[in-house]
Amino acid sequence: MRFPLALSLKIARHIVRHKLKRTPRFAMVLQLEPLHTCNLTCTGCGRIREYSTSLKDMMSLEDCLASAAECDAPMVSICGGEPLIYPKIEELIAGLLQQSRIVYICTNGVFMRKKLKDYLAATYSPAIEPTLTRLLAEQLISNKDAETVRKGKTDGRPVIRPSKWLYWNVHVDGLEYTHDLIVEREGVFKECVEAIRMAKILGYQVATNTTVYKETEIKEIEQMFEFFSSLEVDGHTISPGYDYDAAKQDMVRRLGRKPEDFFLTRAMTREKFAKIQEWGERFTIFGTPVYQEFLAGKRELTCTAWAIPTRNIQGWKAPCYLMTDGHYDGYQEMLDKVDWAKYGVVDGVARDPRCKECMVHCGYDPSGALGTNYQAGDNWKNFRYNFWPRPKPSYEGRKVQAFNGASIGQGHLAQAKAAVKAGLAGAKPAFQNKGNNGHSGGSCGTGDTTQRDELLARIRDQKT
Ligand code: SF4
Ligand code: SF4
Repeated sequence: MRFPLALSLKIARHIVRHKLKRTPRFAMVLQLEPLHTCNLTCTGCGRIREYSTSLKDMMSLEDCLASAAECDAPMVSICGGEPLIYPKIEELIAGLLQQSRIVYICTNGVFMRKKLKDYLAATYSPAIEPTLTRLLAEQLISNKDAETVRKGKTDGRPVIRPSKWLYWNVHVDGLEYTHDLIVEREGVFKECVEAIRMAKILGYQVATNTTVYKETEIKEIEQMFEFFSSLEVDGHTISPGYDYDAAKQDMVRRLGRKPEDFFLTRAMTREKFAKIQEWGERFTIFGTPVYQEFLAGKRELTCTAWAIPTRNIQGWKAPCYLMTDGHYDGYQEMLDKVDWAKYGVVDGVARDPRCKECMVHCGYDPSGALGTNYQAGDNWKNFRYNFWPRPKPSYEGRKVQAFNGASIGQGHLAQAKAAVKAGLAGAKPAFQNKGNNGHSGGSCGTGDTTQRDELLARIRDQKT
């Protein structure tokens, strides 16, 4: 099964319960952002930009747990910012698991091995020496790390333990060169891979979380799936990124520029996701086959952004993960006060111009599960997809040249410097924090990627 049975049943029961009660709107996944602080400054991260004035603020543990209980989503995706910076992340995860939620830790991977070492230290006994030996042999920990682990952990705080209710969800947007370029730091891809390998050895469930951009090469995404499949990761979330920025719409109107000059249009998304159903057969891609049909351009869906609400320091963010027209104090209050009929695209017509090109996972994946545009056979399709055996790991992926950047001395920094020197003199600094992303569960974007696009184009020009 793509998902452990208990988890699939929990989600199915949640949907059936609300359908029987005829609840008009209910939460499926809570995007919980306890803080927006991050250790990275990815190109185009919408979060660290939108909430730049409150980067130091954070939700209390009680508030986080109360929010999960309030909306009662069976799944909670802890995102941010970087959730591993949240000082009470262990307590938060423990609390959510105690509430019987399925928990995703959406991380950029940089601090993940530290948390895995904490777990080893807290559970150390001579019986785990063979595991330490293996981790040492595979260079996933150092001798110093092993010594620290052997001393144990005595601060009395919980640690993040493997559980079938828990997934590490690691943000990876391509192979080494591309990923490090997008996160603007060389070595991050390598760290993610090492953290994933270590987590798998320790018995955790691990998924990857990828955003497809205008400049994303689809062949590379396929290779990325192959590579991570060979590491036996447990699943993948993939979503088109989307820059809805009204300023761009304005430029389209006033300056006559084409939308595809600026952002991923629906037509481009369909082109990039043309093979998503085939990937769904080959790889453990999370989500519904109905959403995959939508991405591939085979059907329409209506946005159900209320099913993946976002809660952060300012409240319940409406109407969706991407757009902020307001924050509300309560989930129910948000459901009641937002005029949902104003948003989304229905039968190809955008109710709000900002929604026009959007096909993101956080707006449309739940639509596939909730049967908002039901077609005969959808339930069976969804059932079969989730309950049938999951695709086997593809060990062919070991042949993929995943480390095609800094590891072989061809990282983006040297190229970027050369590109800036060659043609961007006088331009704003490269890779400012503008544009889309946010690595949380589907990577819904906000903002402007113009600078990144310009620089990528120049780097591409240099390569050819
Ligand atoms: S269509 Fe996209 S941008 Fe519009 S409300 Fe839904 S998720 Fe948000
Ligand atoms: S996309 Fe994620 S990792 Fe990157 S800066 Fe934003 S919050 Fe941090």
